[in-house]
Amino acid sequence: MATTHKTRMLIIGSGPAGLTAAIYGARAGMEPIVVQGLQPGGQLTITTDVENYPGFRDVIQGPWLMQEMQAQAEHVGTRMLWDTITEVQFDGWPFRAIGDSGDVYEGDVLVIATGAQARWLGVPGEQEMSGKGVSACATCDGFFYRGKKVVVIGGGNTAVEEALYLTNHASEVVLIHRRDSLRAEKILQDRLFAHPKVSVLWNKAVERFAGETGLQTVELVDTVTGEKSQVATDGAFVAIGHAPATDLFKGKLELDASGYIVVEAGTPRTAIPGVFACGDVMDHTYRQAVTAAGTGCMAALDAERFLAERDFEAAKG
Ligand SMILES: Cc1cc2nc3c(=O)[nH]c(=O)nc-3n(C[C@H](O)[C@H](O)[C@H](O)COP(=O)(O)OP(=O)(O)OC[C@H]3O[C@@H](n4cnc5c(N)ncnc54)[C@H](O)[C@@H]3O)c2cc1C
Repeated sequence: MATTHKTRMLIIGSGPAGLTAAIYGARAGMEPIVVQGLQPGGQLTITTDVENYPGFRDVIQGPWLMQEMQAQAEHVGTRMLWDTITEVQFDGWPFRAIGDSGDVYEGDVLVIATGAQARWLGVPGEQEMSGKGVSACATCDGFFYRGKKVVVIGGGNTAVEEALYLTNHASEVVLIHRRDSLRAEKILQDRLFAHPKVSVLWNKAVERFAGETGLQTVELVDTVTGEKSQVATDGAFVAIGHAPATDLFKGKLELDASGYIVVEAGTPRTAIPGVFACGDVMDHTYRQAVTAAGTGCMAALDAERFLAERDFEAAKG
């Protein structure tokens, strides 16, 4: 039988943003509920080494970090529920969310922390080699390729920015693009083409990532001639964009052209009072665990202030 779960603070998503919002929300007495979704712990659960989350001198493991974050959230009073939200209703208070299970979740405030998944090519070897040479985040993993050769796949701003970032670490960066020109902004292209470490393979599509225990070669096909080739590499960065998990909110919240939730600049506030968005779902620029956690904190602080003001006004009558 369907159950209705009520809370002061309803959080959708259990990555660094949702769990940090929960830690702050619980400590502010809002007794949060976190609906975890299909990926409890979020994107860091699918990676291995994390070397840039503050507080840890040694390399830590993504899944371990997220277990600790969840344990901390539960320790201070968060209820974690395993469900996926399929519908949200913002017309009136409390806000309502309907789960795949049929359960209903009601919150006086709603924090959206559903993240943005990296787009993958979907070719053989990609998922098997993820974390073993194949990555979708140069900021996260570039440091592991000091003095090595890497390839970047893509042709937009993200790919060019990732390639330029990787020149800080790698000895050689090869950009692989399936067309004969880039979509990236001209200024980025100028910087890319001028860089002595960078070369471009035009009209090449990736067919397979291959290697024994980790990535060794990327197998390519020429998109014009059909000719097959391969490039030896230590690492490959897939940079073909991200897909924010915002289908639920279409027509209910303002989304930008790429589907990210629009918030008031510098805050997690959406246009609906009491509905906040934090983490990668509202951030197409930084997309890091620590920035997700930071905006999760901001969402909880704003949520607490919002409820305190509302309660004060209600008490005045
Ligand atoms: C392979 C990889 C390696 C990375 N390495 C690093 C690194 O080393 N350092 C770093 O700082 N960052 C790294 N990142 C980026 C980092 O993981 C993200 O920036 C961060 O996880 C974003 O946190 P988030 O909470 O906004 O979203 P996510 O972590 O994406 O979490 C989203 C959550 O929302 C839930 N959800 C989605 N839809 C629904 C729904 N309908 N109902 C309920 N729940 C839902 C999901 O189940 C998930 O729990 C890496 C990312 C990847 C993919």
